[in-house]
Amino acid sequence: MKGEAFRHWALVAANWAADYRTGLRDRPVRAGTKPGEIAAQLPRSAPEEAEPMVDIFADFERILVPGMTHWQHPRFFAYFPANASPASVIGEFLSSAMGAQCLLWQTSPAATELEMVALDWLRQAVGLPEGFSGVIQDSASSATLCAFLTMRERALGFTGNRTGLSGRPQLRVYTSSEVHTSIDRAAWFCGIGDDNLVRIPTHGPLRSMVPQALEAAIQADKAAGFVPAGVVACVGGTSTGAMDDVKAVVEVAHRHGLFVHVDAAWAGAAMVCPEFRSLWAGVEQADSIVLNPHKWLGVQFDCSAHFLRSADDHLATLAIHPEYLKTHAHDGIVNFSEWTIQLGRRFRALKLWFVLRAHGLEGLRQMIRNHVGWAQALAARIAAEPGFALASTPVLSLFSFRHDPGDGRDGDAHMLALLQAINDGGQLYLTPTRVDGRLAIRFQAGTMDATEADVDAAFHIIRDTACALS
Ligand SMILES: *Cc1c(COP(=O)(O)O)cnc(C)c1O
Repeated sequence: MKGEAFRHWALVAANWAADYRTGLRDRPVRAGTKPGEIAAQLPRSAPEEAEPMVDIFADFERILVPGMTHWQHPRFFAYFPANASPASVIGEFLSSAMGAQCLLWQTSPAATELEMVALDWLRQAVGLPEGFSGVIQDSASSATLCAFLTMRERALGFTGNRTGLSGRPQLRVYTSSEVHTSIDRAAWFCGIGDDNLVRIPTHGPLRSMVPQALEAAIQADKAAGFVPAGVVACVGGTSTGAMDDVKAVVEVAHRHGLFVHVDAAWAGAAMVCPEFRSLWAGVEQADSIVLNPHKWLGVQFDCSAHFLRSADDHLATLAIHPEYLKTHAHDGIVNFSEWTIQLGRRFRALKLWFVLRAHGLEGLRQMIRNHVGWAQALAARIAAEPGFALASTPVLSLFSFRHDPGDGRDGDAHMLALLQAINDGGQLYLTPTRVDGRLAIRFQAGTMDATEADVDAAFHIIRDTACALS
């Protein structure tokens, strides 16, 4: 496809996208298809001969779109948001149209320089002090893996990459029980291992790591011959929004010379609002911080911002030419492929820049304040309904609740039935979690197009569905 045909189909796609976005409310939020139903409608092998675009596009609409869950739907209250604001979709389209590889400065100088500028805008926007440098990772999982590799290399005197890990001392990383599974997987993949990921107990309504327990665990490990390597602090856990006291965690960790990585993948976006920054007080002392503009800030997946207080240890771990890169701050040249696991890199800063400009920080703040206000009001309303109770305290725009039909039925089974009935109705999409061993329904408001009326509708649907099941 070239020339005028490309223009034609790009315009068809643009029109389709605009209609899709304005018509989202008429679609069920979650796909209702059964496993295998979509694949069964597709040929088993690729066509030998080129097919007309008109057929491909028609099959996209007829076969695939009905099998999609609509993450941009204003009544998507499941998981965490994955906002793709129209401005970011346009940035992504342009990046895709140019199809540049942005691994080195010279392979696309504008991409590297915009990445530095846009991340520095974001650094200021979330209140991190000057001196932090940033890189766009594909996901928080990758940023966290890089942080674990850095912890490992620091603890081994930067010899692990060369000698491998066999026969080396057993390293330890500390975290709470509330962290995302990407922390477990980073511990597996970096060779530290699950058995050496030490879970520190939590306390209080925010389920924060107990600093005295962290101190005790480090001391006990040292006495037992282990080598502590780092701590991962949680700012906005996936299940209930757990928040560690970053300041206290950093104090303990740095006393022992340990590297601190902060996982703020979801909640970090809220720090564009100064009034929420007390939730991560002390973060300016952390060594590594990840937050995902691809969640709440409206930048189309993938765009994960990874900030480093000093990039030296990170580069000594990941860069294949460390001597050369040591000059990066002096000659102004950054080769971002040396900051990430992958070599190839798309021009992801473009969509971040489009979003920051098209919404302005004030637009993003207003969106986040709305979501937080609506979710907290909904939590209070649900808590006041007979039979309902909150399972976890609202944190920003996230809370979880339970319903008791009052007839002695098994709580977990009833919660699953309620969740299924709500989701099968197609008007809302919510997901479950386990809080203190029992199932609960999670609610988060975060979709860019959600309105107060959508959150109000959620209240009525949740209450009426529960009544109908009781
Ligand atoms: C979503 C999330 C992750 C994983 O993010 P990816 O970018 O999908 O890897 C990690 N931690 C927390 C707290 C999250 O909410």
